Amino acid sequence: MPELPEMENYKRNLNQLIQGKVISNVIVNREKSINVDPQTFIQAVQGNTVSLVQRRAKHLLFRLSNGKVLLLHLMLGGWMFYSEEKDKPKRTVQIQLSFGNMHLYFIGLRLGYLHLYTNAEAEAELADLGPEPLDLSFTKEDFLAYIEKKRGTLKLKLVDQHFLSGIGNCYSDEICYHAKLLPERKLEDLTSEEKTALYTAIQTVLKEATDIGGYMEHPLFINDNKTGAYNDHCRVYDCEGQPCQRCGTKIVQTEISSKKTFYCPNCQH
Ligand SMILES: [Zn+2]
Repeated sequence: MPELPEMENYKRNLNQLIQGKVISNVIVNREKSINVDPQTFIQAVQGNTVSLVQRRAKHLLFRLSNGKVLLLHLMLGGWMFYSEEKDKPKRTVQIQLSFGNMHLYFIGLRLGYLHLYTNAEAEAELADLGPEPLDLSFTKEDFLAYIEKKRGTLKLKLVDQHFLSGIGNCYSDEICYHAKLLPERKLEDLTSEEKTALYTAIQTVLKEATDIGGYMEHPLFINDNKTGAYNDHCRVYDCEGQPCQRCGTKIVQTEISSKKTFYCPNCQH
């Protein structure tokens, strides 16, 4: 499932591609992917300009010129592609937003969705999310104060969207590896040095992954060489049996509350 770096990469690219452009046509092939009837959806969206694409946690918000918001969550298997009709992927498209002869295709939206909201409704949908880890106002001091009374298993806290926004299965493991902490450690047992290492790891891993392009399987547009480039940079996630880049020990896979978890049994403590 796409996490903060993947969605941030999409956001940056989409602002280049569609910001300020008019949505000339809307096609809804799968009613379950939206939250209102297709006619209402199309009437509210078509003819509007995309004024801005924003990200919150693993969501994107497409802000429209009429003040409405399209709230996207790709969930497991969802992705987007932006192209002319002739380059359309040979996949089932659930929703299509057209910008003249260019089209933004939403693909693999089985659990994922594109919901139409007012600004207030979108705010309410996102109200329960934890802090954005890369928010400039979320300093190390804030983080240390925030986690002081938090309890629980490190891996499970990191993927908990109420605790922090945007981290999932892959980056939680990469963060633990960077911080040299075992994912089954308890948050309340970490020393202050380890908590600082955790903060640094969250910042470093998420920024690096975003700048490299995240791990999406598919590019966003023709000749997009960046989206997905982080796939080759994972140090532990899906690296079972490969040598640790720090110490050479084989990376192992385990499960924590049925979540796939990868770590180095030697240099993570
Ligand atoms: Zn190691």
